[in-house]
Amino acid sequence: MKLLSPEWTALLYLVAAVCFILALKGLSSPKHARRGNLIGATGALIAIVTVFLSIHVENFLLIIAAIAVGTAIAVPIARKVQMTQMPQLVGGFNGVGGGAAALVAVLELGQHEDIGFRIAVVFTMLIGAISFSGSAITVLKLQELMTTRPVLFPGLRWIMSLAVLASIVSGVFVVISGNWVWAVALLVLGLIVGVLLVLPVGGADVPIVISLLNAFTGIAVAASGIVLGNVLLLVAGTLVGASGTILTMAMAKAMGRGVTGILFGAFKGGSTAGSTTVSDRPVRSSTPEDVAVQLGYAQNVVIVPGYGLAVAQGQHTIAELATTLEERGVHVVFGIHPVAGRMPGHMNVLLAEANVPYESLKELDEVNSEFKSTDVVLVVGANDVVNPAAKSTPGSPIYGMPILEVGDANQIVFLKRSMRPGFAGIENELLYDPKTELLFGDAKDSLGAVLAAVKAL
Ligand code: NDP
Repeated sequence: MKLLSPEWTALLYLVAAVCFILALKGLSSPKHARRGNLIGATGALIAIVTVFLSIHVENFLLIIAAIAVGTAIAVPIARKVQMTQMPQLVGGFNGVGGGAAALVAVLELGQHEDIGFRIAVVFTMLIGAISFSGSAITVLKLQELMTTRPVLFPGLRWIMSLAVLASIVSGVFVVISGNWVWAVALLVLGLIVGVLLVLPVGGADVPIVISLLNAFTGIAVAASGIVLGNVLLLVAGTLVGASGTILTMAMAKAMGRGVTGILFGAFKGGSTAGSTTVSDRPVRSSTPEDVAVQLGYAQNVVIVPGYGLAVAQGQHTIAELATTLEERGVHVVFGIHPVAGRMPGHMNVLLAEANVPYESLKELDEVNSEFKSTDVVLVVGANDVVNPAAKSTPGSPIYGMPILEVGDANQIVFLKRSMRPGFAGIENELLYDPKTELLFGDAKDSLGAVLAAVKAL
């Protein structure tokens, strides 16, 4: 039974759409992100309830059961996930969204014979299938269930071209005939294209591809809105598509790459992952007490946080260290690289959790001009974002990425556990620089020891 008139349905859809837009606005800053999330979830709830009340729902119990199963799987995963595993989670959820859009399109195929409708069906199926299988590969790569390096094999380029061509041909046949066999072929080919698209992407570029596939899912969902004649799906999908595209461009820019270079760079032979061999050249290791003296008697200190700080969950200790140094009259700022960590804004979120004031966070360009007058740079669990190979070594996986120029400072102290490289898998010459010292150990433990030693000065 339909409980809502079309006017009420349209009004509630409008409210949900406004919620989605306000959610995106909220998510644009860490301060309002939590509220943004809640507004978005409220919009989704309004949308779901409106659907139930505005159409005659068959298989009501089956739908409720599916929602219950989905919730039972998703909620514990989302609650347990570490912040450093967020890209995998987003990739997984996103892939499922693309897959769902593709399946809905297949089931709707027989509903109309209109050419425009069938084109929308084909588009949704193809993009949704690519997003599903591509996202599955990104999750496997980021979870290190398969190699994170580019996977290339002879003939890959040809197989890819053939799969794309065959998808187009199948799509045309689906539009002309509406035949299920062609539809299934299109779905399978879409899955193959998704896998082949992501396999050659490696190293630091995988999370960018997740964002790109997120945009794909948005577009597939928008097209499924046309298939189902649901305007809210069209609006929500377009928002996801647009925001995913903007995020992809922003991440690619922060890494100094073009999106086509990320997707097809490995085909041209330019590796996107480096070697993990570590040389056994000597380095200067330090003690918490030495580091405390350097920091405690400095005038200007810049702290550069990276992925390792998030792994160690040392944000509260680092915040306390900064406050303690400031109380001693030391000027302390945090140098934030846009791709430090494993997701955009990772360091901002991490430090906000420990109530580090926003004014203390300096962006790349701003802090780079300050390093020359910096006494000590404390690099905590960061590596690639300060690696000079990005400027000096053409062919390096991070070549062209803007870096934090910590080499300009008087003293550099790295806090890390070993000589292992960072995400891109390449050595950092700065570790062997005469003005560099290394304090080995888990970042939280080392920070705690340095903090205690500063307090004892
Ligand atoms: P890196 O991955 O380059 O380096 C992390 C460092 O942390 C390593 O040197 C590691 O050394 C150390 N580390 C790990 N765990 C700990 C721990 N518990 N205690 C102390 N140290 C630890 O991180 P960056 O933040 O410098 O760079 C981010 C990388 O991720 C870049 O390559 C970027 O391109 C990539 N990336 C980031 C995205 C983003 O949006 N932020 C998206 C896509 C990619 P050790 O093991 O010896 O301790």
